[in-house]
Amino acid sequence: MRSSKPEVLGFFAVGDAALRTNPLYGRGCSSAVMHAHILAEVLTATPDPRIRALQFEWRGFNELRPFWEALRQQDLGAIRRAKNEQDPSYKPRLKARLIKSFTDDAITPASRGDIKVLRALMPAFHMLERPAAFLMRPIIVARILWMWAKPKASKRHLYPVKLGPDRAEMLRQLGLKGAPA
Ligand SMILES: Cc1cc2nc3c(=O)[nH]c(=O)nc-3n(C[C@H](O)[C@H](O)[C@H](O)COP(=O)(O)OP(=O)(O)OC[C@H]3O[C@@H](n4cnc5c(N)ncnc54)[C@H](O)[C@@H]3O)c2cc1C
Repeated sequence: MRSSKPEVLGFFAVGDAALRTNPLYGRGCSSAVMHAHILAEVLTATPDPRIRALQFEWRGFNELRPFWEALRQQDLGAIRRAKNEQDPSYKPRLKARLIKSFTDDAITPASRGDIKVLRALMPAFHMLERPAAFLMRPIIVARILWMWAKPKASKRHLYPVKLGPDRAEMLRQLGLKGAPA
C-alpha cells in the first residue's frame, strides 16, 4: 500500500477497491466512508497531484490500515482456532490459554459489567480511536485486571449466553467421526 514515489497520478482507489475486510466485522462501509473523507480532505488541501497521491496513501496507511491489520489478526486467530478444533489431540499452550482467558474472563465480563470499560472500548469499536487504544489507559487496564481476578462464580451473570454445544460436543451428540474420545 505504501510507496514514496507515486506510480499513477490523479487515480485514487477508495473503500473496498483499496482495502477489504471480512464482512463478519461490519467495518467495510465505515472504512469506505472514512476513506472518502480522507480523499475529500486531501483534494481540498492541495492541487498538486503528486502531494495528493502521497498524502492520500499516507493517511490511508496511518488511519485505516491499523483497523485492517487488527481484523486480519482476528481472522488469522479464527482460522487457527478452527484448525485446532479439528485436532482432537490439540492442547493449547500457556500463551494461548492466557489470551483466551484474558478475552473470555476479563475483557468480555468487564465490558458487560463495568460501564467505564464499555465506554473505553466503544470508540475503537466505532473506528473513532485506534484498535486496542483502551489498553493504553492504566485505569481501564486495572479495571479489566480486577475483573480477571474475580472468581468465575461471582461474575457468571456477565458471560454471554452459550447458544449451543461446541464442536466436539456437537460431534459427540450426533455420533459423528472426529469427536474426541
Ligand atoms: C455479505 C456482505 C456483508 C457485509 N456486511 C457489512 C456490514 O454489515 N457492515 C459494513 O460496514 N460492511 C459490510 N460489508 C462490506 C461493505 O458492503 C463494503 O465494504 C462496502 O460496500 C464497500 O463500499 P465501496 O463503495 O468501497 O464498494 P461497493 O459498495 O462495492 O461499491 C462499488 C460500486 O461500484 C460499482 N462498479 C464496479 N465496477 C464498476 C464500473 N466499471 N463502472 C461503474 N461502476 C462500477 C459497483 O456496481 C458498486 O455499486 C459486507 C459485505 C458483504 C459482501
